[in-house]
Amino acid sequence: MITVKELYKSFGVLNVLNNINCTIKKGEIVAVIGPSGTGKSTFLRCLNFLEMPDRGIISLDGYTVDVEHCIKKDIYELREKSTMIFQNHSLFANKTVLENMTLPLIIARKMPKKEAQQIGEEILEKIGLYDKAKCYPSELSGGQQQRAGIGRAMALDRKIMLLDEPTSALDPELSGEVLELIRKLANTHDTTMVIVTHEMAFAERIADRIFYMNHGVIVEEGPARQLLSNPQKEETKKFLEYYRKVHRL
Ligand code: ADP
Ligand code: MG
Repeated sequence: MITVKELYKSFGVLNVLNNINCTIKKGEIVAVIGPSGTGKSTFLRCLNFLEMPDRGIISLDGYTVDVEHCIKKDIYELREKSTMIFQNHSLFANKTVLENMTLPLIIARKMPKKEAQQIGEEILEKIGLYDKAKCYPSELSGGQQQRAGIGRAMALDRKIMLLDEPTSALDPELSGEVLELIRKLANTHDTTMVIVTHEMAFAERIADRIFYMNHGVIVEEGPARQLLSNPQKEETKKFLEYYRKVHRL
């Protein structure tokens, strides 16, 4: 479903991705953990071509692109395969919650308004925001806004969801509802997810596999529980020990 081979990305003299290789199966959920500044966001952004990689091969849902030989059409095709959810929900501030669900369908998908409305309402039902359909984003809590952002990605029905620290801009008491929604989505839809997160407990609960990233490479990867409880590499052990100390676990 997602295959990445020899992916590299630099910003000037800074080598951020240094040969990333991975295969993620359809419907699989992968959590990416690691120190900040290691290239986790850059990795996700390269998968969506929000950032142009320097070289490598990226294959999403059967569409394969060799970065060094790709044309504009390839980039558009690959972008259509995934949606990205950021730390800060990116809702249209001057549109209602329902319009935020329906506009991408009406504009990007050219869907008739009525049909889009029906899908939008179904999604709002699923994410528990049906009663907020007519509200504007500023009238929602941070957690509700983030849920609406995820709802919009659900409306587009892309098979791959890339989530970059979806809860780190939220107060701890609000992050639970967002994590719950992501978990529900993971259980009920056939969506492949790559989630950059600092929430180890959540990663353990939801992810099939965890990638530990440092210095622009995947240092270690394995089944979630195994990687967290019995890491093989010294570096991974150190990171997890540090994390547990900081969070008093
Ligand atoms: P992470 O998500 O793991 O914290 P990032 O992928 O955001 O790490 O960043 C990796 C490194 O690349 C950092 O040193 C960051 O400063 C740098 N970086 C990220 N984006 C850019 C950019 N657009 N221009 C220059 N440097 C960048
Ligand atoms: Mg980041």
